[in-house]
Amino acid sequence: MRGKMKKTDKYIEEAESVLLHTYNRYQIVLEKGEGVYLYDLEGKKYLDFCSGIGVFALGYKNEEYNEALKEQIDRVIHTSNYYYNVPAIEAAKALKKASGMDRVFFTNSGAEAVEGAIKTARKYAFLKDNRTDHEIIAMEHSFHGRTMGALSITGNAKYREAFQPMIGNIRFAKMNDFGSVLEQVNDRTCAIILETVQGEGGIYPASQEFLRQIKELCEARDILLILDEIQCGMGRTGAMFAWQHYGIRPDIMTTAKALGCGVPVGAFLLTERVAAASLTAGDHGTTYGGNPLAGAAIKKVLDLFEKNHIIKYVASVGAYLEEGLDRLAEKYDCIETRRGMGLMQGLVFDRPVGPIIQKALERGLILINAGERVLRFLPPLVITEEHIDEMLVILEECLA
Ligand SMILES: *Cc1c(COP(=O)(O)O)cnc(C)c1O
Repeated sequence: MRGKMKKTDKYIEEAESVLLHTYNRYQIVLEKGEGVYLYDLEGKKYLDFCSGIGVFALGYKNEEYNEALKEQIDRVIHTSNYYYNVPAIEAAKALKKASGMDRVFFTNSGAEAVEGAIKTARKYAFLKDNRTDHEIIAMEHSFHGRTMGALSITGNAKYREAFQPMIGNIRFAKMNDFGSVLEQVNDRTCAIILETVQGEGGIYPASQEFLRQIKELCEARDILLILDEIQCGMGRTGAMFAWQHYGIRPDIMTTAKALGCGVPVGAFLLTERVAAASLTAGDHGTTYGGNPLAGAAIKKVLDLFEKNHIIKYVASVGAYLEEGLDRLAEKYDCIETRRGMGLMQGLVFDRPVGPIIQKALERGLILINAGERVLRFLPPLVITEEHIDEMLVILEECLA
């Protein structure tokens, strides 16, 4: 045992000597996963309610998924976008069907999908009036990624401060406050972007009324509605994409995280109308985006979602999680409220949740936060009611 402890310590020490220190990591080294459990180097088992920040939707060591990747690796991993490849075509067809959007551009990450959405909106507006001073409205407490464009529309001054100047002409409004959006709109507004359910900002779903009003405003003034579904999409809320709960459709949508279930992929999707009046050949590109390995991963993920009825399953198991968390919220004074949809939930505490996460980790439960006082629950979508009970028992121990 002592020898093994040294293994973890040794790797952490090495990591801190070679990796740029941009993360304050928990002091464990994860080695393998199976189902909804992860194992560290010492063999300790963890029930995973983070799924790699909402990425590993299908659970670890999914045989069908792994086989599909292995087959593709043996065929070809990468070809570049000078040529067509079948896995990307199949993936785009499946994604179009699952989303109800019309055109797909594959990226390698969420932030890149957001960059593409920003470029699309600017080009669309430019083609209309030839102006180059268009504005984008984003939400306070939003999170859209760490690249310069995505960071510029991220509503958290702390993330932006040291990296000024941001890209220009960004305005911020308040989530679920339509009046605050109206205050920022003018004849140069080309897009409004929001997360259908804010993730990093503390698990805030857009209200039905707010999203409907924004959609109407966008239609009336030919402003593009961009919904960032990178965290809340891919079945997480009990719909394939969270906006499908609201009876509206965005002009542009971003997705990533669970889209490839661990293979680094993302995408932005457009309606035909926007696609026909925005980016054209030469306007945008990527070396890796939509390569055969990425395509094979996305296609298999979407196939497994359909085959295993994941959406229906999340709706029912998500309700079970909600009930369990509501019970805790009622029982413990330190919990102010629960927010969320499906398997994307947050418990809002009256204090920082860091110590709770640390205690949970010691007891073999992986949880994360969303802001200082929100405990975030993003389990694999294949989590069962028994796993939820197991989590609630451990969490109660940590609260006691
Ligand atoms: C994670 C996230 C991003 C950024 O995705 P990366 O793959 O980390 O670049 C953007 N938007 C939302 C809503 C996210 O949760």
